[in-house]
Amino acid sequence: MSSLAGYAAGLAVLALAAALARKRGALDAGGVAAALAIGLVLLAASWVALALMIAFFASSTALTFYRYREKERVGAAEKKGGRSAAQVLCSGGVPAAVAAASLLAPEQGARLLFAAASAIAYANADTWAAELGSLSGTQPRLIVKPRVRVPPGVSGGVTPLGEVGAASGSALIALAYYAMTGGNALAVFLLGWAGEVVDAALGALFQVKYVCPKCGVLWDHPVHVCGSETAYLRGFKWMKNEVVNLVTELAVVSAALLTSLHP
Ligand SMILES: [Zn+2]
Repeated sequence: MSSLAGYAAGLAVLALAAALARKRGALDAGGVAAALAIGLVLLAASWVALALMIAFFASSTALTFYRYREKERVGAAEKKGGRSAAQVLCSGGVPAAVAAASLLAPEQGARLLFAAASAIAYANADTWAAELGSLSGTQPRLIVKPRVRVPPGVSGGVTPLGEVGAASGSALIALAYYAMTGGNALAVFLLGWAGEVVDAALGALFQVKYVCPKCGVLWDHPVHVCGSETAYLRGFKWMKNEVVNLVTELAVVSAALLTSLHP
């Protein structure tokens, strides 16, 4: 296949994925624009990174819709209109920028691809953990204080099922990376999974937390799922889930680039 035909095919795949994501309500209008921008950057920079990003997006979107009503009932569902541009950029922007850096430093291509794959493995682990963990029959416990139980959907809460989800989500990206490059899949898997653990700890320690006065439970938002207004307890109001994702991705990428695990 000539490179021109390859780009045309890549553009067609991106346009199709964007149209499908909009139609199914996986992304809002801004989210579609952000996802297309990331897709175009990856199309120019790295086919492997683009394929990994599509694997992340497709599998995470499918899990978001899986038993959506049950998650909605407990207030742990992704919002109805779809993910926003900020959410898309905070989970896809770092891997896209890292992959694009290989255009400037082609001799570092394998190393940068390893770092981008690790960041995508974390993003997938995080979404799978949230989407499967919120369906868990057992009540989540705060990762930094396991004695404290929190409702499903509260950041920093973990369940065994959510952790299995995180490991599986990271493993999927690691295996796809290995299939396309023969690179260090175990390191990608471990970095992705470790990222999800860091994410949960940051979410538990620094993300804004409220208490519902009626139900007496921790909550991430100013209004509880029961309809009551919640009271501020602790944490930074600007440290939303997207910010936690961005900070964790930068940590995963730094760990991937600074260690000698890369190919
Ligand atoms: Zn309540």
